[in-house]
Amino acid sequence: MKRLLVFGAVIAVLAVAIGVLPLLALTMPPGAPSSCLKAGRVVHVPEELAATTGDGTGVALDHAQLTHAATIITIGARIDGVGRKGLLVALMAGLTESRLRMYANTGAYPDSARYPHDADGSDHDSLGIFQMRPAAGWGTVAELMDPAYQARAFFGGPTGPNAGSPRGLLDIVGWASLPKGAAAQAVEVSAHPDRYATWEPVAETILTALTAPASPAPGTSSPTVGSTLPTATTTVFPLPAGTWTRTSSYGMRLNPVLQIWQVHTGVDLAAPTGTPVLATAAGRVEFAGYRTGRGNQVVVEHLVGGQVVASSYGHLRDGGIHVATGDLVSAGQQIGGVGSTGNSTGPHLHFEIRPGGAGNTGVDPHGWLSSAAEVTAADVDPLGPCPVVTP
Ligand SMILES: [Zn+2]
Repeated sequence: MKRLLVFGAVIAVLAVAIGVLPLLALTMPPGAPSSCLKAGRVVHVPEELAATTGDGTGVALDHAQLTHAATIITIGARIDGVGRKGLLVALMAGLTESRLRMYANTGAYPDSARYPHDADGSDHDSLGIFQMRPAAGWGTVAELMDPAYQARAFFGGPTGPNAGSPRGLLDIVGWASLPKGAAAQAVEVSAHPDRYATWEPVAETILTALTAPASPAPGTSSPTVGSTLPTATTTVFPLPAGTWTRTSSYGMRLNPVLQIWQVHTGVDLAAPTGTPVLATAAGRVEFAGYRTGRGNQVVVEHLVGGQVVASSYGHLRDGGIHVATGDLVSAGQQIGGVGSTGNSTGPHLHFEIRPGGAGNTGVDPHGWLSSAAEVTAADVDPLGPCPVVTP
């Protein structure tokens, strides 16, 4: 709960910092070209990955490290001006500072142990993947124990949480013309400027492995969903606050189109056509396409407390599916736009929750929605999906 409150505080700051975005997000015409950077979209987080540093040392990265890398790539790819080079700089910095591990620092901050972490360190009062110090103004302990916050702070720029002090990558004038190692050093202000460059080949290997489409060998089935699903830690309401009205609840009802009594397996949330539809939690897209009845539909599978749960978003407008099957999505990411396709009498979102996965029976999403943080339009990323880059 505390983390949700902190999340809300960050959102409030962001909302002020990017005050014009709510209008953009809500008035973008259907199918508007996104300003997506094409820097890379995470499509696959391997269980492990072998790489070699610039001085020939072999390194083995595990799933936890690669998940943090995925967070860095996902956030950086959606910030204007970062590009592929900026993603590499951030990965090099994370590898150098922490080997891409979330560090608590119980010597300086006993409280830091309350947040998910991979290890406990003791370098000054440094925390997390980028070893950011609350004492240096990077953020509070709660903020810095969030990998996504660390990534946003590292990239900085107009949408960063620190408004240029301390400086993130985008706040460093001319960073793009610096060698990557020097750019990483400029953000980290480290006592050991030379060590970043040696991680560049490892950063390249990670970025390529996570953003290249996974191509299973012929005859093999796709990887089991559970093994590659990110763990969902935050739930958000599937529509921005203030945009929707609940028009039908879960349960028996007279189907307004078919005029027969049947179980309504989700909730209907009426909202204007094109209203951003948000992934209710981090997960992987299980289905994105057209189905009779549901119309344009996106189904996302999540891992919540070790259990697979599917969320489903129906009746999306034509051209309003912003993700593809297999995509990894973050909580609150825009995955589509409200519409009225399929059996529908007006623009609304039909939202379902199916414990156990997409093939299972739906339950009343009420509990799920009541625990979901309301998201304002300002939080909705107007950029839409990022296409996969071919290195
Ligand atoms: Zn419905």
